[in-house]
Amino acid sequence: MSGGQSLSTSPGTWLIKGARPLGGDPADILIRGGVIDSIGDGPAPAGAQVLDAAGLIALPGLVDLHTHLREPGREDAETVETGTRAAALGGFTAVHAMANTDPVADTAGVVEQIWRLGRQAGHCDVHPIGAVTVGLAGTRLAELGAMAESPARVRVFSDDGRCVSDAVLMRRALEYVKAFDGVIAQHAQEPRLTEGAQLNEGEMSGRLGLTGWPAVAEEAVIARDCLLTAHVGSALHVCHVSTAGSVEIIRWAKSKGWRVTAEVTPHHLLLTDSLAAGYDPVYKVNPPLRTAADVAALREGLADGTIDCVATDHAPHPVEDKETEWDTAAFGMTGLETALRVVQEAMVDTGLLDWAGVADRMSRRPARIGRLPGPEGALAAGLQASLVLYDASARDTVDPRAHASRSRNSPFGGMELPGRVVATFLRGTPTVLDGKLA
Ligand SMILES: [Zn+2]
Repeated sequence: MSGGQSLSTSPGTWLIKGARPLGGDPADILIRGGVIDSIGDGPAPAGAQVLDAAGLIALPGLVDLHTHLREPGREDAETVETGTRAAALGGFTAVHAMANTDPVADTAGVVEQIWRLGRQAGHCDVHPIGAVTVGLAGTRLAELGAMAESPARVRVFSDDGRCVSDAVLMRRALEYVKAFDGVIAQHAQEPRLTEGAQLNEGEMSGRLGLTGWPAVAEEAVIARDCLLTAHVGSALHVCHVSTAGSVEIIRWAKSKGWRVTAEVTPHHLLLTDSLAAGYDPVYKVNPPLRTAADVAALREGLADGTIDCVATDHAPHPVEDKETEWDTAAFGMTGLETALRVVQEAMVDTGLLDWAGVADRMSRRPARIGRLPGPEGALAAGLQASLVLYDASARDTVDPRAHASRSRNSPFGGMELPGRVVATFLRGTPTVLDGKLA
């Protein structure tokens, strides 16, 4: 990592004193050579750097399955460097970078380029997602096998931003990835049912006179894809589930034993379409914010495991694309730097998940779905020391101007949220200390 020469950021021996692993009893975590040496208590070994973590929660490094890093092509919105800084500050040690860049990540060459940029930046691991179809055009399968065999070792494929709406192509993609245990991550949006759609179809879209986005446009694609996945015996991951009906369909598919997993974004766990009342495009997102009943169903689905994980769908946009009239504004919200805080507000402080549950939904399960080779997702002696130290008792108002992301389109700006990421370690090297980049 940059600045790796200074003592404070060397991957040496660290003793993290008094942190609460997964919210349990305080313990000392000894890190040596990038690995968790022990969790217990004892004197600091000679030469160890001591970090007083009394009262802080220790979680395994967070893993995001759905990040838009925008590089190559839209470096005015984000770069691998700025996006992974934001990720580290949010407690993430790995992100999956979506394929809708320019050029599209639909060849071994482009995914390898993104993978190398991630290694150069060094703030967290970057796992490129490959496009399902050439140019995200939805007509021809991309070189899935070549991307899988590249140094980037792509296992997750998605046309995110667009739906693979052609059932034959979706079937072929699901069949193809079986050869290397890949997964197709679907952005479920029936295109004809959402032509010109601006926000959730319901009372609010009627009141504002904006074209509605019906829940069935998402649910119909999810149902079809669950059936296709079962038919070919492959693995489907459903991106950003946003409706109560979608949760029901995924619950049903899982009850059949089919290999279907799903994610929910922090914003869909906390915000509703009522925020659109002032026509502020910061609340414009794809899929749209839904109703309070949908939010309740998403929280319940995440709590009972129907929805496997939280994924940010961090979607940075420059001011000129976002601060415009609602109809012409870009879809999307930033989210890496607030994700854990929003999950605390929506899931932990409401009693729906404990911290072990948060570790499961934000680290262990997304790592499994992303087919990550490392032992991410747990804190135990012998595992790599990728972890986050979090102050759950902190509370302040979100200021997007203070974010490391190059973009400012956070829907949580001005909102008071609990929590603060104090430190992040990536294989024993601090990427964040005292809430700042190390
Ligand atoms: Zn999407």
